[in-house]
Amino acid sequence: MKIQYKGSVSPEVLESESTRSVSEEQVTSSEASIKTQKDRFYLPVLNINHNHEWPSKPLEDRKHFTDEVATETCLGNCCGVEGLKGACCHLDPYDTEHVLGPLKGSDKDEWIRDILAWFRKRGLNLTRADVVIDYEEGKIIGETLFKDAPNNGIFQEPSAYPMLRFQVIGPRYACKFMNPVTYKCGIYAMRPNMCRTYLCNYVLTNFLVKTKSKPNTWQKVR
Ligand code: SF4
Ligand code: SF4
Repeated sequence: MKIQYKGSVSPEVLESESTRSVSEEQVTSSEASIKTQKDRFYLPVLNINHNHEWPSKPLEDRKHFTDEVATETCLGNCCGVEGLKGACCHLDPYDTEHVLGPLKGSDKDEWIRDILAWFRKRGLNLTRADVVIDYEEGKIIGETLFKDAPNNGIFQEPSAYPMLRFQVIGPRYACKFMNPVTYKCGIYAMRPNMCRTYLCNYVLTNFLVKTKSKPNTWQKVR
């Protein structure tokens, strides 16, 4: 499946970037666009998931977003970009929809407790700080690692925490629980509700989905 791409970063750039081989010379658009692309290079999820960028697909052309379709889409054709994987499991301060948090409600304490217990059963004695970033640390991360990112203010917002801890993979920042080789979630059965219920704009505008409020009905939401 391939949809028309309307973002300011071309699929070609994304694909090249996903193989970590983009050089400044390869970015050949206008000057402004070049700057934007360079800015976004180190935060690979890129700003590709904005509402206005995805036209609503006609009902008759939509597939059910089953687990099988989700796997195929999310691990190889994420947001309609061939080769892009697991964008929503990456951190992107450009697009707060993709900041890996905050864990809220029952996720906040219960999930942290449960995931630590889950790891303990597997012989790993992790602490809260191994699985999430809290405000005090995140503030410093924002001021250092993301100091040039336009939306780095999100790191100064106490309400953005706790955030899932992330790992650095080449030029990318991905959730610590994402397998950097397969791009699959390493704690899939235990992932927080935030991840279970998340449907990106690409999925909402291209598939029939089951939502939290209608968990038994395939529906066109947008
Ligand atoms: S839910 Fe959307 S953003 Fe996340 S991996 Fe799937 S297609 Fe990509
Ligand atoms: S916990 Fe799993 S599903 Fe959630 S962001 Fe991390 S890798 Fe993705």
